[in-house]
Amino acid sequence: MGSNLILKNANIINEEGIVTTNKNLYIEDGKISRISEEFTPQNEETVDCSGLFVTPGLVNLHTHSPMNIFKGIAEDVSIEDWFNRKIWPYESKMTEEDTYYGALLAIVEMIDNGVTAFADHYFNADRICDAVLETGIRADIAPTLFGISEDFDEQLEKVTGLIEKRGNESSHLRLRFGPHSPYTCSNHALIKILDRAKNIGVGIHIHMSETKIQVEESIEKYGVTPFEMLYNAGGFDVPLIVAHGLWIREGDLKYLNDDTYFAVSPKTYMKLNMGMGKIWELKDRINLCTGTDGAASSNTLNPLEQVRMFALIGKMFNSATEFKLEDMWKMLMRGHKALGFKSGCIKVGYSADLAIWDLKRVNTMPVYNPLASIIYSSNAKNIIHTMVNGKFIKKDERVLVDTEYILKKAYEHSMNIVRRGKGNTKIIF
Ligand SMILES: [Zn+2]
Repeated sequence: MGSNLILKNANIINEEGIVTTNKNLYIEDGKISRISEEFTPQNEETVDCSGLFVTPGLVNLHTHSPMNIFKGIAEDVSIEDWFNRKIWPYESKMTEEDTYYGALLAIVEMIDNGVTAFADHYFNADRICDAVLETGIRADIAPTLFGISEDFDEQLEKVTGLIEKRGNESSHLRLRFGPHSPYTCSNHALIKILDRAKNIGVGIHIHMSETKIQVEESIEKYGVTPFEMLYNAGGFDVPLIVAHGLWIREGDLKYLNDDTYFAVSPKTYMKLNMGMGKIWELKDRINLCTGTDGAASSNTLNPLEQVRMFALIGKMFNSATEFKLEDMWKMLMRGHKALGFKSGCIKVGYSADLAIWDLKRVNTMPVYNPLASIIYSSNAKNIIHTMVNGKFIKKDERVLVDTEYILKKAYEHSMNIVRRGKGNTKIIF
């Protein structure tokens, strides 16, 4: 069988940040089948990429995609008020359809920004799965579980059923368990969740050590840090996405292994005054990746913006010669390894999950160093095409979904959220 598609005469930036020029990238059955200077078309579709840069797609390793429907609803508040007075009360009245349209809105924004895969953590996950499959992006979805809820056992059954039902439905979809955090899940609940995860053979995705107070309270109440608590429950025996881990302590490092990935979201940390924590200092000893968190705190879902902020904060408070472009690029690419879709490398056999950039624009010209152009100057307008599994999901600067319809529905649902107002929440941050 011949190739399905050739990206002709492209410049390539690989996962290590190494640039090669004027290559033809052959894609067959969704995978990269050949990278060559020779252009030998048979019957394939050819896309001229002269002067463009082809890179692996971006990964957003921690978000709450449906929270796009709450973007801007909780501004200029403390982190306590953000949770207790705004987000959790609104969420308590959220419907499945709010979730669905919030997720669709989020996915369109991510595709526009060159994201080819994201890790999500939310309720009503069935409808998020629908949104993923309808748009062609890839996602790893963790249905959220609060271990301290009265109906925890019932929720655990429901989530287990969903993971079993949808986990193998498509190569675009993976599911794992989403215990919210050690402070909202008792040790007992964490153990129950991890038993299930091990039985089914999936990982978990959990918020850890987000604030300094959270860590201090854990030590005061239980005598252990959140990381130690998770370790004691078996949390490091499975593939693990740590959301934030901002206030990890030196002593927690011994629990981490090669299958522990951190998704960090500096924009949220700055906005909610969460402090520097330890992740900048420990950057070379942790598998750091980028996440955006939900749009209710980060307002945008572009992982590139987060890595840019990570580098700038690092340079501001440590050293201008550290947080180098190549390291930031690798941080951006590392999320692919965490998700295991066999994407993230420009190599034969890897999935063609790609972003194709035009850096010959006002904001990025001249291009002395393509990584600098991308990391410090680019925006979504530089992404000409986004592709998953060899199929375009953004083509010629346009995301291939009915954006007008999604915007209309998002508007209607945002109006409904305001009309319904806040409900009561039993969980306290
Ligand atoms: Zn989060």
